Amino acid sequence: GLENSTNAKDKSRFQENSNDSAVYTPSREEIKRTREELPVFRCRSQLLSLIRENQVVIIIGETGSGKTTQLAQYLHEDGYSNNRGKSIVVTQPRRVAAMSVAKRVAMEMQVPLGKEVGYSIRFEDMTDPEYTKLKFVTDGILLRETLMDDMLDKYSCIIIDEAHERSLNTDILLGFFKVLLARRRDLKLIITSATMNAKKFSTFFGNAPQFTIPGRTFPVQTIYTSNPVQDYVEAAVSRAVKIHLANDCSSGDILIFMTGQEDIETTFDTLREKFLQVYSKKFGTAKIEEIKDIEILPIYSALPADLQFKIFQDLHGTKRKIIIATNIAETSLTIKGIRYVIDCGYSKLKVYNPKIGLDSLAITPVSKANADQRSGRAGRTGPGMAYRLYTEETFQEDMYIQTIPEIQRTNLSNTLLLLKSLNVTDELSKFPFIDKPPLQTFLSSLYELWFIGAIDNKGQLTSLGLKMAKLPLQPSLSKILLIAVQNGCSDEMLTIVSMLSVPQVFYRPKERQKEADIARNKFFIAKSDHLTLLNVFVQWRANNFSAHWCNKHFVQYKSLVRARDIRDQLSRILVSQNIPVVSSGKDWDIIKKCICSGFAHQAAKISGLRNYVHLKTGVGVQLHPTSALHGLGDLPPYVVYHELLMTSKEYICCVTSVDPFWLMEYGGLLYDIKRVKDNHESEAKGLFGEHYGDVVDVAEDEIDVNIKKYR
Ligand code: ADP
Ligand code: MG
Repeated sequence: GLENSTNAKDKSRFQENSNDSAVYTPSREEIKRTREELPVFRCRSQLLSLIRENQVVIIIGETGSGKTTQLAQYLHEDGYSNNRGKSIVVTQPRRVAAMSVAKRVAMEMQVPLGKEVGYSIRFEDMTDPEYTKLKFVTDGILLRETLMDDMLDKYSCIIIDEAHERSLNTDILLGFFKVLLARRRDLKLIITSATMNAKKFSTFFGNAPQFTIPGRTFPVQTIYTSNPVQDYVEAAVSRAVKIHLANDCSSGDILIFMTGQEDIETTFDTLREKFLQVYSKKFGTAKIEEIKDIEILPIYSALPADLQFKIFQDLHGTKRKIIIATNIAETSLTIKGIRYVIDCGYSKLKVYNPKIGLDSLAITPVSKANADQRSGRAGRTGPGMAYRLYTEETFQEDMYIQTIPEIQRTNLSNTLLLLKSLNVTDELSKFPFIDKPPLQTFLSSLYELWFIGAIDNKGQLTSLGLKMAKLPLQPSLSKILLIAVQNGCSDEMLTIVSMLSVPQVFYRPKERQKEADIARNKFFIAKSDHLTLLNVFVQWRANNFSAHWCNKHFVQYKSLVRARDIRDQLSRILVSQNIPVVSSGKDWDIIKKCICSGFAHQAAKISGLRNYVHLKTGVGVQLHPTSALHGLGDLPPYVVYHELLMTSKEYICCVTSVDPFWLMEYGGLLYDIKRVKDNHESEAKGLFGEHYGDVVDVAEDEIDVNIKKYR
């Protein structure tokens, strides 16, 4: 497909990366026995006949009952993937799950990953178009595949897994299928869901049958805190230590829910410190490596694959696993042997404020449904305990019953662009949404597409918009790449866009933060975090992509390797569309101007000495601590940013200084510009003419950009 053109060379690299040679491979009989012990096995024939008789079936089951790993295999065994070269596809809302499950199924079927069984996630394709019969993909990938082939002819069955999560892409896919099923009578659609939402799916598909897999679960005792918790990381750490000291390892493992990578890493470090303190007092242990009875394992999407798979290792009760996870462990990944759950009560959610068109990641309280899912993880192997790091009152009074579906709380510009390019455009108001997005969101996302030039005044896709839709990137990133093509710096922009698509380029270990910061500052160029990322990549390439070089400079080798893979893929897509890849040498300004072209709506101007205000909203924002701009004596008066992060403060992340005239060139629809300095403020338009981009000899700080008073 469009996103996936990984060649054989890349594949071998991925395989080397996922070093699983140490993992114990069970015998054919053992696999069979394990599969037959799963709750879903007892309903196998019942399920297959239900599917034979109905085009759409909703399957409900507890986490761990075998939905994800078994259903596709059953369908395969029942012949759905043999007739006329058709195959079975299973979608997951999360990359990690798609990868991990494919690997598990390949193992159970005793075939190499990437042949009969494969996975495909953005920028990583482990499938073989000729041989793959069971394909695990993210819902985003399947949505893109429908862009290429709206009949989805190559599939006989589509399993939408984890549908209760109501991810944006899942919701859009289900809307599509509602139409597609009438045109493809031979296509089977299976939707799996936790209990919540199941009824809703059934109704949406004309009362499709619901089938519940009878499960075994054990009681879980829920324990709340008596007072609100100040620092949930600290509270989680001290709870985990208490559990470990009071209970024998063989009693079961601990699963801690945190919000994201940053929290997880802090928890990881703090846990190690705490355990070392305790063990050194008790046994004189001097190093964390000497502690033999615990294994602390983080799990989040951005974690390298080989580390992710460690959470599944069976330690046979000799060691206690303490797994620190994001909500990925709520339902997507089933981890055996969890007896204790510690729930911080929050998760990181994308939230969109349509009034001001602001998209951000915010740490938000989980819903009651999520909290119960989290607790439920403790009751799979025996009776368990769930420690909630919040009060019962908070749970009862303050938490939503369910999380608001993503479609109702996220920026839709990406999705709308895709829908437009699929020609669902004029009918958008008739698109069968399970839950309609709020009109405001809809309109402001359209506004954003119009603002960046993807659609015209009539709402039609522009030629730029069409090109943007073909790139597997968010619209703003597609735009800066395409504008860079026009301005002769696509080579540099490819690198920047790829580096922005990987998490955590810099490595900052707790005990060597100063050193790490000095190393990072050496890369800083041109008042820009974007160009700093470019610089890192260029130097790494000049050093033969060396891992040693990365370690020396506090750069994450794995992230760079991934950026290189993404870069290769994107440049292949450009080449396939006859788009030239050209370099501008060291003309930083032109690159910065191109960055501004896609992010003019995400701009801030200086306020005081070290702070910024968001141009569009007037809200105060701060540079994220990781920004290289902190090293500057004077901060630049105008910046654009890649991402807004809301925690206790509002941070702008990955920032580049821009010329206010560029903001006007690309954001003139939104901003007004005034010349200050001299006493009589005069309209910039009068002063500089219509062509803001022309050479102007006015210092940047004499210019004042403000939001237009419109409405
Ligand atoms: P469900 O989708 O119903 O939650 P799954 O099919 O994911 O259930 O899991 C079924 C069983 O397979 C679980 O008992 C789980 O422990 C096991 N399993 C799933 N993935 C892996 C893996 N990567 N490694 C080891 N065991 C796994
Ligand atoms: Mg599952």
